[in-house]
Amino acid sequence: MNLSEYKGIFVFAEQRDRKVQKVALELIGKGKELAKDLQTTVTAVLLGKDMLDEAKKLNYAGADKVIYIDDDALDVYMTEPYVHALHTVVMDKKPEIVLFGASAIGRDLAPRVSARVHTGLTADCTSLDIAQDDDDKEKLNLMMTRPAFGGNIMATIACPNFRPQMATVRPGVMKEAEYTENNKVNIEEYKVNMPAGCKNVEILDTIKIIQEKMNIEDANVLVSGGRGMRGPENYPILEELADLLGGTISASRAAVDAGWVPKDRQVGQTGKTVRPNLYIACGISGAIQHLAGMEESDYIIAINKDEYAPIFEVADVGIVGDIFKVVPALIEELKKEGRVVNK
Ligand SMILES: Cc1cc2nc3c(=O)[nH]c(=O)nc-3n(C[C@H](O)[C@H](O)[C@H](O)COP(=O)(O)OP(=O)(O)OC[C@H]3O[C@@H](n4cnc5c(N)ncnc54)[C@H](O)[C@@H]3O)c2cc1C
Repeated sequence: MNLSEYKGIFVFAEQRDRKVQKVALELIGKGKELAKDLQTTVTAVLLGKDMLDEAKKLNYAGADKVIYIDDDALDVYMTEPYVHALHTVVMDKKPEIVLFGASAIGRDLAPRVSARVHTGLTADCTSLDIAQDDDDKEKLNLMMTRPAFGGNIMATIACPNFRPQMATVRPGVMKEAEYTENNKVNIEEYKVNMPAGCKNVEILDTIKIIQEKMNIEDANVLVSGGRGMRGPENYPILEELADLLGGTISASRAAVDAGWVPKDRQVGQTGKTVRPNLYIACGISGAIQHLAGMEESDYIIAINKDEYAPIFEVADVGIVGDIFKVVPALIEELKKEGRVVNK
């Protein structure tokens, strides 16, 4: 394989209901950083139907170029047409890197495309960098880091002999680039022939179940409770604090496993990766698997009665004390300030 034929960074721009998903914008942000090191460009690849206007958003989010494939078969995600379309573009354009969100769609699509183009895929990466060492062979390879052995070590994986280098990255891990409508719109409308064999599944109907599911990745303020909360009956004080701050609650895995808080609110390696403006950790020790999901928060306050708890190492403010005294005191102060619960 002639590796030098492969140029540029591709980001798979996931869409649902004809709306580009946030993870695509995050991957463009990361792609731009990598592109700087490689002195190359970032191209977002959007597959859908009647989405030309939405495609512009990818340019506004920082993509130098958008490849847009418009086809009835690509309106709603289906494995075969998506794999065929993306495989066709990748074989034609030969990017050196392709990034996907580690969402349900990305996790289905990325391994199939990587197998078809005969290259490697590193799933669930938490960081991506370009190798800067002096060893020529390794130089400029994508270094893909992800937790391994049950999260006890971080493994950095390279794909030096094949191209493109492919990775999936969880939503919420990477930072979006600045979004500006001043960016140039540069969209290539790309045609792919859909062979009949691609259309062996037909979607007759889509039924959406509306669940009270919480997207803690979108919250600006998270008040997170751990095993130190002792039981679900004590969570209302965290809810009250979160409400006063305009946020919501989240939890450590210990609290989720105990059944005190639903799984969709779990922060950490096997939960969600969050990056709120304010993260308040209440009775959470700060295990490495928890920190992996929240240490990028802008401002961290930790409340723990154990002054040696590892959570204090990542906290901007640490309060050594009993949650059941500190949290009510905080609530009282916020109320004195005139804050009210907006519900
Ligand atoms: C493969 C793998 C994946 C994992 N994924 C995750 C994950 O995604 N998210 C996650 O959170 N964990 C995860 N874990 C589990 C993780 O290792 C820890 O076990 C877990 O985070 C501990 O939760 P905790 O901090 O709430 O409980 P503990 O570690 O038991 O800490 C409770 C803390 O509360 C404090 N405390 C107790 N009472 C009070 C009080 N009254 N006032 C103040 N402080 C008090 C204690 O001092 C203690 O520090 C994972 C583990 C593995 C092996």
